[in-house]
Amino acid sequence: MREYEAIIIGGGPAGLAAAVEIHNEGVTDILILERDIQLGGILQQCIHNGFGLHEFKEELTGPEYAQRFIDKVNELKISYKVNTMVLDITKEKEVHMINSEDGYQVIKGKAIVLAMGCRERTSGSISLPGTRPAGVITAGTAQYYLNMKGYLVGKKVFILGSGDIGLIMARRMTLEGAEVLGVAEILPYSGGLTRNIVQCLQDFDIPLYLSHTVAEVKGRGRIEGLTLMEVDEDRRPILGTKQEFEVDALLLSVGLIPDNELSEKADIELHRRTNGPVVNEKMETSVEGIFACGNVLHVHDLVDFVSAESRRAGRGVVRYLHGERAKTEGINTVNGQGVSYVVPQMLHMDQVEGKFAEVFLRTTSVFRDARLVVKLNGQEIKSFRKPHLAPAEMEHLKIDKSLIDTQKGELSVEVTAKEVQ
Ligand SMILES: Cc1cc2nc3c(=O)[nH]c(=O)nc-3n(C[C@H](O)[C@H](O)[C@H](O)COP(=O)(O)OP(=O)(O)OC[C@H]3O[C@@H](n4cnc5c(N)ncnc54)[C@H](O)[C@@H]3O)c2cc1C
Repeated sequence: MREYEAIIIGGGPAGLAAAVEIHNEGVTDILILERDIQLGGILQQCIHNGFGLHEFKEELTGPEYAQRFIDKVNELKISYKVNTMVLDITKEKEVHMINSEDGYQVIKGKAIVLAMGCRERTSGSISLPGTRPAGVITAGTAQYYLNMKGYLVGKKVFILGSGDIGLIMARRMTLEGAEVLGVAEILPYSGGLTRNIVQCLQDFDIPLYLSHTVAEVKGRGRIEGLTLMEVDEDRRPILGTKQEFEVDALLLSVGLIPDNELSEKADIELHRRTNGPVVNEKMETSVEGIFACGNVLHVHDLVDFVSAESRRAGRGVVRYLHGERAKTEGINTVNGQGVSYVVPQMLHMDQVEGKFAEVFLRTTSVFRDARLVVKLNGQEIKSFRKPHLAPAEMEHLKIDKSLIDTQKGELSVEVTAKEVQ
């Protein structure tokens, strides 16, 4: 069985950045496996700009951003196989893959990086009421049809869910001549970035219906209309608030789920809030030598943060291959009040790089005039002032390592706020 130093599953921005970093750190026997016809991941269909402001201090489109990393992979002569589906991985780090050239093969990695990205929630996962006509599709699928295949999926469109992909598609469909009648969000606040609300809805006079949901989908062969209703605090439709819309497409932007079927097969521990693997400071999962980064780990808003996290995973792989192991028990990171999750979930302080321990988190609600308070074994060690916190915007905290003067216990992050929406 052919054994590689490192096998990367997924050739999106996470897999590419991890591969380049592993190579830059001196390990060159790497193989990237990608099921699509090309490298670049989901960014290949994101033709709008706004990518790369942190990473390159430039505003790039998705394909341009991806190409920077693909060029690097080619320049470094890192091996990759496209059109190659990984079907299974084991705890022993065997990778089962299939493609039309090599057929079914089993290869082994001394280390593995999981970088399979995420997928969209569908109508089935939100139990959409009404009939099941054609024309009800996820916003990402509509984006794929429009940007990759040149099909406009509808001319009178409504969008359910205010996630970023839905907001971006509201603008994109408008620019292509469709009429976008509105975006409905069941929560009292948007699920997307503020910049996307402004640039994709407000600039095009597209109404955003907060605390509203689609109460009925109508149509037999093709969707013909829908009923929109306002919801109460318990997200139940309020009688007397019905509004009818004639539409020929309903796009769903109701959340993303990390793609972790392979992780489960390898018996990797998953986190119940992120739906991704539980990882330590090096992005190493509960199975030694298997690392995870990007949207398979937790859903990111900005690809720039995916690249930075994946480089950390890449350095973790090289340190693992060089035999570096944690000598301390480790500190569990936990979500306190108002925080839905913290990544990484474990910090071995002897392994944390640089001057700061870095954690990423999301809040459970919208808070104004708030503080994020970091506690070590119950004692406050640091707090960060945050005028505005929202679940749609991932927070990144850098905590000076000198403040964490223990090797075990619990580091929690919680919100204290004057106002909660
Ligand atoms: C529809 C959609 C639109 C998005 N739009 C934006 C946006 O506008 N701006 C933004 O910043 N972020 C956007 N995102 C988030 C975006 O996914 C991340 O910013 C970034 O692309 C994540 O990188 P990744 O490498 O983790 O995942 P991906 O880019 O999804 O890459 C994962 C790769 O793994 C491959 N793969 C998965 N399973 C297997 C397998 N079993 N075998 C082989 N290969 C496999 C996939 O084919 C894919 O190429 C969007 C996400 C989605 C789903």
